[in-house]
Amino acid sequence: MGLKVPKRFKIAFIVGTRPEIIKTAPVYLAIAHQPDLQPVFINTGQHKEMSHMFLDLFNITPDYELNIMKPKQSLSSLTASILQELEIILQREKPDWVFVQGDTTSAFCGALSAFYQKITIGHIEAGLRTGDIYSPFPEEMNRILVGRLSTYHFAPTQKAKNNLLSEGISPDKIIITGNTVVDALHWIQAQDKKISSPDISQLLSSNPIPRIVLVTAHRRENWEGGIANVAKAVIHLAKRFPDIIFIFSVHPNPVVKKQVYAILSHQVNVLLHNPLDYFDFIKVLSQSLVAISDSGGVQEEAPSLGVPVIITRSTTERPEILETGMGYLAGTDQATIINLATEILTQERTRKAQSIFGDGFASQRIVQSLLFTFGKMQKKPDEFYC
Ligand code: UDP
Repeated sequence: MGLKVPKRFKIAFIVGTRPEIIKTAPVYLAIAHQPDLQPVFINTGQHKEMSHMFLDLFNITPDYELNIMKPKQSLSSLTASILQELEIILQREKPDWVFVQGDTTSAFCGALSAFYQKITIGHIEAGLRTGDIYSPFPEEMNRILVGRLSTYHFAPTQKAKNNLLSEGISPDKIIITGNTVVDALHWIQAQDKKISSPDISQLLSSNPIPRIVLVTAHRRENWEGGIANVAKAVIHLAKRFPDIIFIFSVHPNPVVKKQVYAILSHQVNVLLHNPLDYFDFIKVLSQSLVAISDSGGVQEEAPSLGVPVIITRSTTERPEILETGMGYLAGTDQATIINLATEILTQERTRKAQSIFGDGFASQRIVQSLLFTFGKMQKKPDEFYC
């Protein structure tokens, strides 16, 4: 038997939350298939209670899991703990590259930690901006800071690239890849799997399938009033449309959970559900008449499935969705949410899936760019164009 030749380049992924796992998984899996690249997966545990459901689905076994979450932890304490732990791991592993995704505290700490070790940083989903540093909070500032720290910027769209250019990032360090969430969406839809949630399985196997509205809410800037307003709008809509089932995927954050259950737990046609696994969630989303959501990922997935989204936020860093008429910026005003939803639910609509956020090849472009920087490919990949 020959000696095992070590892979040449070590690529670390620093990931902590549900959306980061979903959006990083396609890149991780693509890198794991490359003979020259060795991935190292570091889970900060920022969404500890949810992360395993998502990691298992993508068959990812983390090489490192930090144990840093404490009840009612402040952002400063979370930041300090992640940075301290990451320093030890990065000094031990000495990766050639670090990938971070998006705009979480884990992404910010991952980039800062890699910078302290002078490691090349690749930012997946670079260049999203609302222009308001407090919305979303703290994500807008996190992504600005990750942008400053990163070496290579994988922008999902032309607009995201333009944002980076206007901040002085060199064009040769930016590539438009599309959003890796579309890769994840295609991947999960191709899985031969059964729905895990008995409630969802029962609903979706009914004949006919009931009319469904999907609701999610979690943004920190909506904790004081916004989430309660969304829940009140949902109860109003549920009474107005008794034939529709409102499936509310309730975020496990205690602040969110408490408010949602207090308002909605007694309404018969509202199903309050723990976070769904990605397969189930996409099944529900694809069957929905409309999604009411403050989620970034849902704003990207819904157009790919032809589902309109009422965005319960005052700003969006995904303006492409507004331009195509697939998304409506509602804020958290009850009357606005109710009026928009009523309009959508009472109109005949033809579904048209739109690839505004990606074509499913974002991770391929990212890996090809990486190989290009290592001199393993002659040419940079072509950019995503919509
Ligand atoms: N998601 C999921 N199950 C759920 C709710 C959301 O799999 O019950 C997925 C959703 O498809 C999207 C991601 O989680 O890809 C969005 O996560 P979240 O809304 O927490 O974060 P954001 O996208 O706003 O950063």
